[in-house]
Amino acid sequence: MVPLEIFPLPRPLDRFGTAFPSALADLYANAYAPRRGVVLDPLAHPWSAADAAERADRRGVARSREPLGEWARRAIALAPAGDEILAALDRVGESALVGTPHRVAMRELYGSTCATCRGPVIVEAFLWERDAPTPTKKAFRCGICAREGRALLIEAVTEDDEQSSQRLEQRGMAYWQFVERFGPDPNAQALGESTAALYTPRNLTALVATLRAVETAVSASPARDVLLLCVLEVLISGSRLNTLAGRGAPLRVEKGRARRSHASQSREVNVWLEFDRTVRELVAWLAQHPSPARARSATLALDTGDADLVLCQAPVEDALGGWSAVAAVALLGIRGTKPTVVLGPGRGLLSAWIKRAHLAVGEKVRESALDFREPLEIVRDVTLKREADRDDPNLKRHVRVYTIYGREAVFTDDDDVVLGDLAGMGPAPAASSSPPSPFPPPDPAHTP
Ligand SMILES: [Zn+2]
Repeated sequence: MVPLEIFPLPRPLDRFGTAFPSALADLYANAYAPRRGVVLDPLAHPWSAADAAERADRRGVARSREPLGEWARRAIALAPAGDEILAALDRVGESALVGTPHRVAMRELYGSTCATCRGPVIVEAFLWERDAPTPTKKAFRCGICAREGRALLIEAVTEDDEQSSQRLEQRGMAYWQFVERFGPDPNAQALGESTAALYTPRNLTALVATLRAVETAVSASPARDVLLLCVLEVLISGSRLNTLAGRGAPLRVEKGRARRSHASQSREVNVWLEFDRTVRELVAWLAQHPSPARARSATLALDTGDADLVLCQAPVEDALGGWSAVAAVALLGIRGTKPTVVLGPGRGLLSAWIKRAHLAVGEKVRESALDFREPLEIVRDVTLKREADRDDPNLKRHVRVYTIYGREAVFTDDDDVVLGDLAGMGPAPAASSSPPSPFPPPDPAHTP
């Protein structure tokens, strides 16, 4: 047994998964990869196996089928000095896209009064009962009457709070600005609209305004990427999936739509306050824990070469779920299609697709597939077509014939169980084709 160090990550990095234990990376790297060798991590996120490999003096190459994790790892590796990030945060607070400085507009949005002293306070969270038209309680700190503002007070909302919670339209400007990011495709719009419906009008307004302030007040730069990464935190915790105890649940997407929470209560956190805190906490943490890939950050995207070792930690739970795809669209503007098919070595995955497609001779189906068979997985549209049945002399039986990509032929039995293919996957004595060619070198430039 290797003693595994526990290495807690700050928010929002902990939403991607846990830090890969460096002792394990050392063990595997020393056993299987030469010094400076290439370690491929197919489940990339900040402090995943690729970063642990960097700490073990190997080159960690990070790839992911979700663009968000890989992007986040680079954002952290390229993060500038804390002062620069905090200066960018200041510019966001001062930005006056709609006339008032963003920070002031946010103070007004979450403003209320202390029930004891009637002084003005900023609400940190409103508590909602499921399906209620207004919140029932508010949590805030009062600088006048409660321990110099340190204690969090929870009181019933007033009539003014109820009115301010209803002042904004459910489908106001922020709603459509959010949905617009998903593009014109009707399926993507349905995901955008169902996701937008997960927020109170107040929090959707704050989320979209903060995102727009980041995009307009800070030019494209490593500092902006760190801020965008922190918007991910409030994209999740600012939604109605945030319960009283937690920080927001994984997003479940069903039939292309975001599923609502079934929790009886939710916490409407102050989006701007949580964003500001997340940035400051992350900056403080990064000052103590610079990314292991930082030294090579300029060349991370250029890294090529055959992987000596593939190393990753299969996540125990997926804390992001559909948030990963939603954030890629809403924060990064990546409108990718989500793969519906997985192609990998072996017959099981392909059989599953062929069975599900249930094609008659001559029919075809086109789906987005994650192709796992190459050294670096890629996502592309793939056509599956059923050709005429035939009697195969090599397999010595009647077979169904399917082609994928219009060229790779696959043989199945009458139950659509794959028997073999042209790459020599058939039973060994029956194979007549040459063995498959070795893997070409990875090509990061053409990988999603
Ligand atoms: Zn007070």
